Amino acid sequence: MNINLSNIKKAVKYLNKNECIGIPTETVYGLAANAYSDKATDKIFKLKKRPRKNPLIVHYYNLKDLKNDCKIDNQFLSLYSKFCPGPITFVLELKEKSKISNNVTNNKSTIAVRFPKHKVTRKLLKNLNFPLAAPSANISKSISAVCKTDVIEEFGNKIKFVLDGGKSKEGLESTIVSLVGNQKILRLGSLDRSKIEKYLIKKKTNKKKNIVMPGQGRIHYSPGLPIRLNIKRPKKFEAFLLISKRIKSNKNFFYLSKNKNLKEVAKNLYKTLRKVKKKGFKQISIERIPNRGIGEAINDRLLRAAVKK
Ligand code: AMP
Ligand code: MG
Repeated sequence: MNINLSNIKKAVKYLNKNECIGIPTETVYGLAANAYSDKATDKIFKLKKRPRKNPLIVHYYNLKDLKNDCKIDNQFLSLYSKFCPGPITFVLELKEKSKISNNVTNNKSTIAVRFPKHKVTRKLLKNLNFPLAAPSANISKSISAVCKTDVIEEFGNKIKFVLDGGKSKEGLESTIVSLVGNQKILRLGSLDRSKIEKYLIKKKTNKKKNIVMPGQGRIHYSPGLPIRLNIKRPKKFEAFLLISKRIKSNKNFFYLSKNKNLKEVAKNLYKTLRKVKKKGFKQISIERIPNRGIGEAINDRLLRAAVKK
């Protein structure tokens, strides 16, 4: 996708005025605002109906910018050089002189940061003199947006602009890793557990220092319809999501991948959930997803999406 410079200019204009806009990333679309501004970040919580206790991920262009706000060490630098820019979020300690709004961190001394890979958003970040707080661009608890029209579906004219970057390549949120206290994965995501876990250092630390995962409620990523998991035979009235082609297809069947390619399943999952809802199905069933590689993160999302209200 080519970068449309006049759209970047528009995005910069809105963000400089403390507005919230939609931005593309390789994981999912974000609802972005100036992370240094109380006024701008306040709007994110209101638009998303997001509980204040659920902190925001901050998106940076490069290390130089990050160093203004976060304490970093060699371990972080080595992970940064391996995985960034890319679908990984780090929880780090905030510097005292950081300009990050307290809204972003829920007044805590730690912050979640990420370096998105999407070239449109990298161009945008390069043209700003502040980092972007950007949680997923959806109303709290619902499914994330993976293209511009999904974001508009979520917020309508309540937001003024969505920067178009095509369909998100990964389709699933970033993997969150805490480097504060005991190093560990806090949320599974687009970067496989096996790729990152081997680099995390197990330390004996004061338990109080260990980060817990705020905001990952039982119900999350929900399309607002009942979901049944690990299904072989769907009920007649259900939309049935499959990960490989069946010989005998049916108009209720929706394929997440042709041949059990789990990367493809991740990419198509949210889009397909939105689609079957729009088609008017009242219930969804899903074939078993193998719990390997990215399948583990997909199953994490599906389990939360399937929680009964
Ligand atoms: P999302 O809505 O997909 O952007 O999710 C962001 C998630 O990042 C939140 O739900 C938190 O669980 C996590 N997070 C953000 N900031 C922090 C932080 N300072 N410490 C630990 N987790 C965080
Ligand atoms: Mg989210």
